[in-house]
Amino acid sequence: MNFELDDIQSSIQQTFRKFVDEKVKPAAAEIDEKKEFPLVLFKEVGKLGFFGMRYPEEAGGSGSDILSYCLAVIELARGSMSLAAACSMQSLMATYFLYRLGNDEIKSNYFIPAINGDKIGGICMTEPNAGSDLNSIATTAKVSDHGFSLSGQKTWVTSARVADFFTVFARTDNHDKLSLFFVPTDLKGVNIGKNIEKLGVCGSVTNEVYFDEVQLPPQFLLGAIGEGAKYLIEILAEIRIMTAALAVGVATAAFEDAVEFAKVRVQFGRPIGAFQAIRMKAADMAVQLETAKQMLFYSAWLCDQKIARQKEAMIVKLYASECANTICDEASRIMASYGYAKEYPMERYLRDARFTLIGGGTSEILKINIAKELGL
Ligand SMILES: Cc1cc2nc3c(=O)[nH]c(=O)nc-3n(C[C@H](O)[C@H](O)[C@H](O)COP(=O)(O)OP(=O)(O)OC[C@H]3O[C@@H](n4cnc5c(N)ncnc54)[C@H](O)[C@@H]3O)c2cc1C
Repeated sequence: MNFELDDIQSSIQQTFRKFVDEKVKPAAAEIDEKKEFPLVLFKEVGKLGFFGMRYPEEAGGSGSDILSYCLAVIELARGSMSLAAACSMQSLMATYFLYRLGNDEIKSNYFIPAINGDKIGGICMTEPNAGSDLNSIATTAKVSDHGFSLSGQKTWVTSARVADFFTVFARTDNHDKLSLFFVPTDLKGVNIGKNIEKLGVCGSVTNEVYFDEVQLPPQFLLGAIGEGAKYLIEILAEIRIMTAALAVGVATAAFEDAVEFAKVRVQFGRPIGAFQAIRMKAADMAVQLETAKQMLFYSAWLCDQKIARQKEAMIVKLYASECANTICDEASRIMASYGYAKEYPMERYLRDARFTLIGGGTSEILKINIAKELGL
């Protein structure tokens, strides 16, 4: 096995690292405090080609492997989880179904602008009574001679209030399984509800969304009726690997800050990094971070070899997100009051890392599905 990054992968890592150090890190606290979508940086990420990385060149993307994509996600999350969460949503879930199932008009008017960062997309799955259990989705698309009439309520929709289009999971009135719909946000009956105030990733804005008899032409049905869950599964492993990369990114930031702090903070006449209690914490964090990173690169490699392994993707998402939360917690303890102060980014890392426990499936749901993969 070759563990070395190739020239292209290294160059992508360096490009995003430089961008994050120069532009994202200095802006990260403000993005969090303002709780507004970071449009300027989002567009710059678009110019770096991030949103098209996972799409082939003939579709307008760059056809990058998922390992390269993960290297970019790690760097973005190391700088600002808010920016990274908004950008990774745009690069996969918000655009995948348009690429995979949209007609030429949808592709040229929405997909291509979206992968260039000129249009923003959102994904509407979750509802007040349907989170992990997507089978409980109650949004309905009534079939008519002219297409569909969409009604229902969604919640937790990332980027909703700045979005130009959504992919909506709904049930048609003639089928018991889920279907996907393309919904431009300027259609009559699409209403953006309240802002959801949250603990972390505050600059990655989230809203409720209401659909009130939104009239959709037949071509806005994406793929076949009742096949929505099947299309989602096609991209699920990739979403989980991406979420693991977000976790590795924020954990890296917390780990690096804590180690640096331990070198310079002097108590009882010595740098605190000289005390065994702190050294043990740092070593444990290093082992966890390294393990998560290697698992991430392995599952990305499997995906790149087209060995689609749902199990490995779930394992790395579970492990990396749990680790990121432990690492941010321990890093914050090392910095004590400095880890608690708004003046330093540590408290933000701690809040932001919680998101990785939820997006891409909660730890409980992942464990249930890993056990299923084991035949239990
Ligand atoms: C920052 C953020 C951004 C998001 N962005 C989007 C978005 O853009 N679009 C979108 O559609 N959604 C989005 N979501 C919603 C997200 O997908 C859901 O929060 C997630 O699916 C979990 O659903 P829930 O919060 O309703 O929890 P629930 O499913 O209600 O779960 C509650 C608890 O019960 C546990 N649980 C549930 N079922 C079982 C079971 N069978 N066995 C054991 N335990 C169980 C869960 O693990 C969890 O601990 C976002 C969420 C967050 C936090």
